Amino acid sequence: MPIILEPTDLSIQRAAEAMRAGQAVAFPTETVYGLGALTHDPRGIAEVYRMKWRPSNNPLIAHVLDAHGAREIVEGWDPRCDELTSRLWPGPLTLVLPRRANVPVEAAGGRATIAVRSPSHPVARRLLQELGGESISAPSANRSGHVSPTLASHVAEDFATELDLMILNGGRSEFGLESTVLDLTTARPTLLRPGTVTLESLRQILGDVDAPEVHEQGASPGTAPRHYAPRTPAALIPINGIRAALALEPRPCAVLCFDPSHVPSPHTGITMPRDAHLYGSTLYDALRSADTLGCARILIEMPPSADGLWRAVVDRLRRATA
Ligand code: AMP
Ligand code: MG
Repeated sequence: MPIILEPTDLSIQRAAEAMRAGQAVAFPTETVYGLGALTHDPRGIAEVYRMKWRPSNNPLIAHVLDAHGAREIVEGWDPRCDELTSRLWPGPLTLVLPRRANVPVEAAGGRATIAVRSPSHPVARRLLQELGGESISAPSANRSGHVSPTLASHVAEDFATELDLMILNGGRSEFGLESTVLDLTTARPTLLRPGTVTLESLRQILGDVDAPEVHEQGASPGTAPRHYAPRTPAALIPINGIRAALALEPRPCAVLCFDPSHVPSPHTGITMPRDAHLYGSTLYDALRSADTLGCARILIEMPPSADGLWRAVVDRLRRATA
């Protein structure tokens, strides 16, 4: 198994040294755990793609300490960026902007644009500081297409064969869903991936924000129809539709629902929080637990709303069950 390290000063230094030597290191953020390498080091970037089995055209998010760090790797920083980042950074908002010529194209999946965000997790920030503010490119620390990790142990499970991988332990990710991705290179700002920073709050700041329902995989690979998926086949069921769905299913199922008293044996109910924030922060752990039960299917009760914070939850549920 990989090595899980408590985030002492010494282990932050070791992680930074490994990254300077061209290795990838896993670290906690407030969204999910990331598998990071130096943005400016194509060796480390290649390691990230190799370890994740990530298609080379799926771009990475660059993590920086602040707006100053972002401006070192992007072009076209404008007043909208100042407005957004002064209010929402550090935090779970990723901006897509034109990539500066000095940033290796490998760090952007071959694109002329680059995604950038400033994480708030103290361990991520200490690592960035230890690296002198150099940017870290990091996708989620899971094998490509699998459920994102929200605990150090999730990372260790996905990368069980990477014996030298260092994982900095930062506890449970506070938000537990990947960041909101906002494209600022289009005529109007475009929401590419909903997250904890809601569409409503972006519209309050920017006015107009496009939020197309379905994305082509080309625009933003994290929005492929099937993504963030458990290994067991999973399906969404209408709210209060559990009994009806289970009546048709003789094989044992795992059921993510709000009230497990509706789940008779031989099925297993997993109680989900009614609060959107709590739901988001526990969803991936619940999907990973459901996967270990050896059930025929995972059934997931639809949340009560698809607006505000629920938008990101429903988006991930749709992809997990596509
Ligand atoms: P992950 O870090 O694994 O959550 O994935 C990062 C996701 O951010 C990608 O899958 C894309 O959906 C999105 N992304 C990153 N860079 C870009 C970019 N330059 N243009 C559009 N989307 C991007
Ligand atoms: Mg990912």
